[in-house]
Amino acid sequence: MSTTQGYDLIVLGGGSGGLAAAERAAQLGKRVALIEPHALGGTCVNLGCVPKKLMWYGSQVAESLRNAAGFGFDVEVKSFSWKKLVDARRARVKGIGDWWEGYATKDLGIELVKGYGRLVNANTVEVGGVEYSAPHIVLSTGGHPFVPPVAGAELGITSDGFFALDELPKRVAILGGGYIGVEIAGLMRSFGAEVTVADIAPRVLMPFDLMLSETLSQHMLHEGIELHMPFKTSGLRKTDDGIVIDGAEDKTLGAFDCVIWAAGRKPNTASIGLEAAGIEVQPNGFVPTDEYQNTNVPGIYAIGDMTGRLALTPVAVAAGRRLMMRLFAGQTHAKLDYNNVPSVVFSHPPMGSVGLTEAQAREEFGTAVSVYQTGFTPMKYAMAAHKSPTAMKLVCAGVDEKVVGIHIIGDGADEMLQGFAVAVKAGLTKADFDNTVAIHPTSSEELVTLKASDRLD
Ligand SMILES: Cc1cc2nc3c(=O)[nH]c(=O)nc-3n(C[C@H](O)[C@H](O)[C@H](O)COP(=O)(O)OP(=O)(O)OC[C@H]3O[C@@H](n4cnc5c(N)ncnc54)[C@H](O)[C@@H]3O)c2cc1C
Repeated sequence: MSTTQGYDLIVLGGGSGGLAAAERAAQLGKRVALIEPHALGGTCVNLGCVPKKLMWYGSQVAESLRNAAGFGFDVEVKSFSWKKLVDARRARVKGIGDWWEGYATKDLGIELVKGYGRLVNANTVEVGGVEYSAPHIVLSTGGHPFVPPVAGAELGITSDGFFALDELPKRVAILGGGYIGVEIAGLMRSFGAEVTVADIAPRVLMPFDLMLSETLSQHMLHEGIELHMPFKTSGLRKTDDGIVIDGAEDKTLGAFDCVIWAAGRKPNTASIGLEAAGIEVQPNGFVPTDEYQNTNVPGIYAIGDMTGRLALTPVAVAAGRRLMMRLFAGQTHAKLDYNNVPSVVFSHPPMGSVGLTEAQAREEFGTAVSVYQTGFTPMKYAMAAHKSPTAMKLVCAGVDEKVVGIHIIGDGADEMLQGFAVAVKAGLTKADFDNTVAIHPTSSEELVTLKASDRLD
């Protein structure tokens, strides 16, 4: 077997985290080998954030069309082509992967090795019979959708299969009410499918603040989405009418034309040679690291979804960049702070969260918690037939009412939250919010005009 040496860094996986690490190391003048079997960009670009958001923009057009008459437009929608939307999305996604490949190899001088990599020892990776060695190796192999081992599970598809659909199925069931489940449910419903969501949990979006979960599920029901929770799926069955879902206590759902598993994700760590390099791995497959992304083996680091921390693109990117600054730019204490990371769910309507939920804050701070909440129908819907709710919650702690959590659901929540996340990260108080002059007329102004009468307790 031939061995290629002379690299400063090997990166296993060209997704969000791996690309960020490889790019930063190359910018710092390091010689980098990047190993990736598929198109560059990983889950986010190819099977996650990007194609999902493009579809979500399409669904926003559908919703605007529904409300056009209220603003004087006499619009007749003659047809909608799922295939045209999907083809345009695929072209856009391919363009991003192609761009990355040119930028990484030509502009940055990264050596792109196409194939699956596997560690053979603590500083060597093998790809297709060739060994590559370097003093530093970053593992960033991400994850894949989890399909529970129930009878007939293979009759369902996953989020990967959702992106491969060339036609919009008429009757869809989504098994999982987490963020991927509710996003796909909202998309398919707004394009006209009959949608059912079932989950073993009692409500959608369990880890999120209760207000977000309740507001969204009420609106999903209002939009005609069926919710079955808790529902424990015991198997999938093919019948003449379509796929039927069997549950505990002889409950059944269906038939459906398409069943989508959205039951969580598992790390891609089973066949990357962790044991050969002596890397510790948790029973659930995640690779634990310390706060500096070090695994238990010196010189090997892990970032992104495979570490079991917050599975978000900007988290993987930030962890990768900081790690490179620590290894190659002398910033010996550079590391990612995993606290107060904002995140958004592109549901219908979208929602966003940063910091503690009300329940978490009450657990941590007891009675020293004050919560301000408001709910309204945005002005956007004043003349619209189909309305969508907005709700906001500010969670504060201590006598100075430091804002420790913000939760927003409603149009614009996705764009609104980023700026407010800066405020939470900076440790601002309710008084700082009150001191900020509102922008009118917007929905976000409600967050700086919350009054004593909006206080929950
Ligand atoms: C449907 C969906 C929607 C999402 N939406 C959002 C969103 O809106 N916002 C957000 O922030 N996050 C979103 N995410 C999460 C986001 O995609 C991930 O958190 C992010 O991609 C993680 O980056 P990563 O580098 O850890 O892994 P990935 O991006 O998954 O990259 C891992 C790469 O490793 C490669 N690989 C695997 N095995 C090997 C091997 N043996 N050798 C070499 N390469 C290998 C894979 O091919 C892949 O390209 C979404 C995810 C999904 C599934």
